[in-house]
Amino acid sequence: MLNQIKTKVANNKRISDEEALYLYRDADLLSLGKLAQERRYKLVPNKAVSFVIDTNLNYTNICDAYCSFCAFYRTDPEDPSSYTYTVDEMIKKIKKARDKGCTTILMQGGLNSNIPFDFYTEIVARTVKEFPDITPHFFSAPEIMKMTEVSGLTIKEVFQELKKAGQRTMPGGGSEILSNEIKSKISRFKPKNTVDQWTEVHKNAHDVGIHTTATMMYGHLENDEDIIETLRHIRSVQDEAVGSKPAKFTAFIPWSFKRDNTALGKKIKKEAGPNQYLRIIALSRLYLDNINHIQASWFSEGYKTGQIALSFGADDFGGTLFDENVMLSAGFYNRTSVEGIKKLINEAGFEATQRTTEYDLLEEMSRII
Ligand code: SF4
Repeated sequence: MLNQIKTKVANNKRISDEEALYLYRDADLLSLGKLAQERRYKLVPNKAVSFVIDTNLNYTNICDAYCSFCAFYRTDPEDPSSYTYTVDEMIKKIKKARDKGCTTILMQGGLNSNIPFDFYTEIVARTVKEFPDITPHFFSAPEIMKMTEVSGLTIKEVFQELKKAGQRTMPGGGSEILSNEIKSKISRFKPKNTVDQWTEVHKNAHDVGIHTTATMMYGHLENDEDIIETLRHIRSVQDEAVGSKPAKFTAFIPWSFKRDNTALGKKIKKEAGPNQYLRIIALSRLYLDNINHIQASWFSEGYKTGQIALSFGADDFGGTLFDENVMLSAGFYNRTSVEGIKKLINEAGFEATQRTTEYDLLEEMSRII
């Protein structure tokens, strides 16, 4: 089967779900990596590996979704470890991040019904006005669904308001595994328990011209077919966008579940390792033939695995993530600096190149997303 897939890839033909399953389960790792890297160079024909200077800020940890894989959320506002910041407080944090050199602010929070819709539009508008050199890469699909609930607006209307305020990109969190069976087990409640609550939000974002990323958190209750199903949903949302909508997925970003301090971690005794991660990176490069950028994560998988992933089809190394609290809550701590990230990329045999949130290279601005 590998030869059949090689021929298809060489001829820019799409691989089937059956072939994807074979690659993921049975192909030998190095052949899979080689094939994925050949494809990477066809799409991104230089040694550049991009990274962004960013941070991850959280405006609240109060959440009513009760995801069993999450160690970040609190349910009781009286709990001394719970918090909800004001717009002013968040603006101070953004200023601090800007002073450290960040060009992208990734901002996410729990699903907190006490936050009015104005909070979200105001924070976008003030960020854009007060820090014109920063891109607000804010919120995720479940937060958009919470905004529809508190505002009474449709998904599209929420995006229109965010766009009016100045938002142009949104991260892909909240997808986890795009299978209704798995979603309903790990996130039992709306707006996270079905696939379409994630896919519809992204389709609407693309309709109004907001670029998004696609993500996958694996290594918990899913089986191999669920991984392929996740990629299939992502490829199909992108098929609708490419060529006919003003925005699309800019990148695919997988990471493995971190079990410490989570309810799900009591069932899952072992975290997924580098072999599975590299297979997923390579497979996604081959299967997601309509997404240009595949992101390797030094942050979630460790420096060395992140570096190796750059030879398995990935062409982006994520961000500096100066402040990150979600994985930190699950006992996972990794930090680096701009110089550190450049060194990791260069040591792996590539050329570190800073990018924008929209994946344009800052040094040559030559990429087309
Ligand atoms: S993953 Fe997000 S939506 Fe789920 S409980 Fe944690 S903060 Fe809430």
